[in-house]
Amino acid sequence: MNLQKISLWTLVAMVPVVPLLPLPDFWIAQLNYIGLYSLVCLGLVLLTGVGGLTSFGQAAFVGIGAYSTAWLTLNTGMSPWLTLFVGLALTGASALVVGAITLRMSGHYLPLATIAWGLALYYLMGNLDALGKYDGLLGLKSLSIGETSIGQGRLFFVLSWSMLIAGAVGLLNLLDSRPGRAIRALKGGAQMAEAMGINTFRYKVTIFLIAALFASVSGWLLAHFQRTVNPSAFGLKMGIEYLFMTVVGGVGYVWGALVGAGLVKLLDDYLQVLLPALIGTSGSYEVIVFGIALVLVLKYLPDGLWSVVARYLPHPPRRVDWQNCADLPARSKPSAGSTVLEVDKVRKAFGGLVAVNDISFEVQAGQIVGLIGPNGAGKSTTFNLVTGVLSKTSGQVRFRGEDISQLPARGIARKGMARTFQHVKMIADMTVLENVALGAYSRGRSGVLSSMLRMNQSEERRLMKEAQRQLERIGMGGHLHEQAGNLAMGPQRLMEIARALCCDPALLLLDEPAAGLRHQEKLALAQVLRQLQGEGMSILLVEHDMDLVMDVCDQLVVMEFGTLLTRGTPAEVQANPAVRAAYLGTEH
Ligand code: ADP
Ligand code: MG
Repeated sequence: MNLQKISLWTLVAMVPVVPLLPLPDFWIAQLNYIGLYSLVCLGLVLLTGVGGLTSFGQAAFVGIGAYSTAWLTLNTGMSPWLTLFVGLALTGASALVVGAITLRMSGHYLPLATIAWGLALYYLMGNLDALGKYDGLLGLKSLSIGETSIGQGRLFFVLSWSMLIAGAVGLLNLLDSRPGRAIRALKGGAQMAEAMGINTFRYKVTIFLIAALFASVSGWLLAHFQRTVNPSAFGLKMGIEYLFMTVVGGVGYVWGALVGAGLVKLLDDYLQVLLPALIGTSGSYEVIVFGIALVLVLKYLPDGLWSVVARYLPHPPRRVDWQNCADLPARSKPSAGSTVLEVDKVRKAFGGLVAVNDISFEVQAGQIVGLIGPNGAGKSTTFNLVTGVLSKTSGQVRFRGEDISQLPARGIARKGMARTFQHVKMIADMTVLENVALGAYSRGRSGVLSSMLRMNQSEERRLMKEAQRQLERIGMGGHLHEQAGNLAMGPQRLMEIARALCCDPALLLLDEPAAGLRHQEKLALAQVLRQLQGEGMSILLVEHDMDLVMDVCDQLVVMEFGTLLTRGTPAEVQANPAVRAAYLGTEH
């Protein structure tokens, strides 16, 4: 059993057992609050911990859920079970609007925007007559099933914690899925993710939406639990507190949400009693203690309290259960001799520097073409122009006869052009297998909801099988379950090639694949490249290792200072005096 399962079953067992224990009502109420807070923190784990998007505005979404049900049940007599869905719809709509506007912002703008949003909603709630201004709405009914009230105490515990556990399970399922891997790539590898065919903006909006919906459910529960709503529970202070809980608990871990919410809630109550007694006057001293505690946690346990637990509990490797499943469908491949790639007078200027100056060349199906030239010649930039990572100043790129000049990187990847990066781009805290499975993203379909409900398993097995197959193809079959971040440089590069192969490409672009490889690894790489060529793959290769280039390439394109120096077979290029002077002369 792994850590997630142990934690999960412990919680599931708690739900029916806790209400039967002779706990005082006060403790049940505490647990109820912890459940409600945890639900909001769960959303923040996904949004901030996994997705890297900081939000101070979650309390506002709690407020939308709470006020929706309060106003509707009081004014229309609608059943509270129905108002949950109205609240979710309203929250979802506002999250989509806010997300669409703010999630394109980078750096500090998103957190600032969420602060503005949190403040705006707080004052809106506090100033609307229909919502009772700052007094809020009073006299809500408890939730009930038939005649049985489940709005407080032990039955409410069962309801709220069941929802919490369902949310946690959904999140765990999601993170271990095709869309989940894409979400995990948002924080550190957006450029890489786009090059794998992933629409990163859409995933940002999606996790913003999910986090908001979790908060909304919490608000719905809270309104009926407290039987009153007022703006103070949904203001910026509470928004900060939710983030605080999550960070203290461990913002990168689903269980961190529960640990953080539990700890902060209990400490908060305890300190509110203890501190005034110690100091002798009343006041909100706990806030000061929390401030200090947060600084200490951030300094000494930046990944939160749960990271300590996670370190000491076992992490068994993923169970290999895909041996007998079907392969993913393969793309149609270009016929031998046809032109796969045509680069036509492509140009890129960075301000005054023309990094790529009207470069033209072709790659035929089944060829290995080497793009060589001294450092700074413009090879990587050319790669980025071909793969859509950078926009072209002018020129055209055709892939299998189709003009792809205007397509974004993800669109080009989906057409079957895959690449590696000069500086390895990977998700260090995912396993090698999971990293490579990212490459097969564009060959899968399962979405967020089906993944949360674990209806993605047959496709998931096929993706994993493909990832394993490509890793074995490149001699990395022994590293499947290792953390990618623990690999040495050579294996990291091989992992990137396996990831690119997972896309089932018609053209493979490799940017300095042999850099950092040992001699034996280089020989193995040359072998792999020849084997791929034998299987009909077309490859565009940037490489400094001249032995490798001369050995495997059919054609060479030589660049210098952004311009095309010459092109031809390795023998022709080696014999060219201009090349010897400009490139080989300086290299050797
Ligand atoms: P190579 O891969 O052949 O070593 P690059 O394509 O990385 O060369 O770089 C070509 C030239 O363009 C270099 O002079 C480099 O400094 C410049 N360059 C590359 N990327 C950028 C960028 N994003 N902004 C400005 N200049 C850049
Ligand atoms: Mg380069």
